[in-house]
Amino acid sequence: MIRSRSRLRLRHLLAASALLLPLPQARAAVLQLPREVPQGGLVIGRAPAACRVSYDGRDLRVGADGRFAFGVGRDAEGPLQVRSACPGHPPQVQHIAVRSRTWPTERVNGVPPKTVRPPPAIAARMARERKLVAAARTRNDAREDFEEGFVWPVHGRISGRFGSQRIYNGVPRAPHSGVDIAVPRGTPVKAPAAGIVTLAKRLYLSGNTVIIDHGFGVSSVMLHMDKLDVTPGQRVRQGQIVGLSGMTGRATGPHVHWGMNWFGVRLDPRMVAREHPANTHRQARRKSAQTAD
Ligand SMILES: [Zn+2]
Repeated sequence: MIRSRSRLRLRHLLAASALLLPLPQARAAVLQLPREVPQGGLVIGRAPAACRVSYDGRDLRVGADGRFAFGVGRDAEGPLQVRSACPGHPPQVQHIAVRSRTWPTERVNGVPPKTVRPPPAIAARMARERKLVAAARTRNDAREDFEEGFVWPVHGRISGRFGSQRIYNGVPRAPHSGVDIAVPRGTPVKAPAAGIVTLAKRLYLSGNTVIIDHGFGVSSVMLHMDKLDVTPGQRVRQGQIVGLSGMTGRATGPHVHWGMNWFGVRLDPRMVAREHPANTHRQARRKSAQTAD
């Protein structure tokens, strides 16, 4: 009798505590993350105060407001693992699914032959320039300029897509690393977001090149420009003119090649601009403004 009464009390106690305590499986995810990200996309997440967050073996910078960011390459396969260690929580691993994309083949003919098979005398120059570009992309500043979203540097016909298999004058080369936008020579080219210019220089393959660092390892690059109006170290605001479009370097006609990176990882500017939370809000505002008209 005594035993069964205490068992009953125990059962009541368990029932009551089940209402109060979440089950271990239902433990709330500590980080705010998107459920899915496309290949070539940028993930922007949020963490509670004083968390350590890491992805792909790298400790991520976490801003004062808890924001962090990392990029997902063209060939990344999910699920991605994001690790966190936050005060008051056991260490957690959260997963993000990766949306696979297909990559078309793009044949580009009529490219200057010396840019497809550069003469051996140029090899040292190209190696030097690759190092300069790689160094510009190692920067890891606390600025959160990427947070305002991205605008297109120019508007025009898309003449090349990110990730496509490129064949120049019949010779297969690395996948295309950005988006090509065909515009007349001399079109003003805008900074996609605010940032610091980390490179502004004429390079052999990419012609007149500007790299803008947006903080947390996120950067933009614009290639083949006719004229550069900025210098390294300069702060630019979103939409500021950084130069004029052209066809310097490996180009068959005037266009702007817009690339984006998270450190050395190449991203698709179209995915970043479209899925960026700030741009999503902007699109929603625009849509609601349109329906109101
Ligand atoms: Zn291009």
